[in-house]
Amino acid sequence: MPSTQEAAAIANTKPTMTRQHVKYLLKDGELVEYDDARLHVLSTTLKYGVGVFEGFRAYWSEDDQQLYAFRVADHMRRLVDSMRVVEIDGPQDTEALVHQLLGLIRANELRGNLHMRAQVFVDSDDGKPEDTGPSTVFMAAIPMGNYFGATGLNVQISSWARLSDRSMPPRIKSIANYQNGRLALLEAKRNGYDAALLLTENGHVAEGAGYNVFMVRQGRLCTPPVTESILEGITRDSVLHLARTELGMDVDIRPIDRTELYSADEIFVCGSAAEVNHVASVDRTTIGQGTAGTVTQSLLDLYRKAVIGRAAADQGWASPVYPS
Ligand code: PMP
Repeated sequence: MPSTQEAAAIANTKPTMTRQHVKYLLKDGELVEYDDARLHVLSTTLKYGVGVFEGFRAYWSEDDQQLYAFRVADHMRRLVDSMRVVEIDGPQDTEALVHQLLGLIRANELRGNLHMRAQVFVDSDDGKPEDTGPSTVFMAAIPMGNYFGATGLNVQISSWARLSDRSMPPRIKSIANYQNGRLALLEAKRNGYDAALLLTENGHVAEGAGYNVFMVRQGRLCTPPVTESILEGITRDSVLHLARTELGMDVDIRPIDRTELYSADEIFVCGSAAEVNHVASVDRTTIGQGTAGTVTQSLLDLYRKAVIGRAAADQGWASPVYPS
């Protein structure tokens, strides 16, 4: 049975393959050569930013000689929700989408940690902004290691406000939403930080450019509610479940003020690509000792087990890609 050490080794695995090793992508359920997965420059998506996507991961277990795709059905459900909110006519059958994605990984014979994307575009070259179709679904599975390239993030509170449900709903993964996070990230990098957190128009902590946020303050684990301009993160949901069921913690889901972060004992961000990563400082104020605190470390260890189906509470989250 793989141990915490194996789970830790998995998390640190550098990809042994590059994107050059990916022979196929998937277009509307059909395998296409990597270089042939193209969209016309005048597609509605390119003209008006109409499109939705998902990003998820799969983890290789050396002990099991198996690749596990994490919470793929939940991601496909969110993809369908995203299409509904921005009104794109696309596939609704999440089981079929999962089946296609796992088939793509097998077709490429990928055995290593992966990041996968599923994207739905509106694909017409004389389109108008209000067009809802025709749509095209692309999927990709690409080797990927650590997202940040480091643990322990120095974070800036952005001067940009998080977009809101009254303008561009952050709850779903619409391609256009990412302009907001991009501006925040560019500002943070320019100022010498690793990452950015954005506040809502009301000044509450929302989330980062591609990750949700948690803090531990006065012994309580807290995270903003889904009504505070955040993506309804699947890793956030996994962390909530692991904290409650495996650590027996109550979690406060409540609005968080910026200044609460400065006096937090621990802060971490989480996301499918970002995984669980502790925040070392916010606006140059050191958080705790600047290292991963005990709650963060426990949740990180549990998460690393969950992604390869080894956390007791994992609810069948890890789907084996290859027949055993
Ligand atoms: N917020 C934003 C803006 C994101 O892009 C992501 C990454 N998908 C997250 C949060 C984390 O979501 P998830 O855990 O579902 O990947």
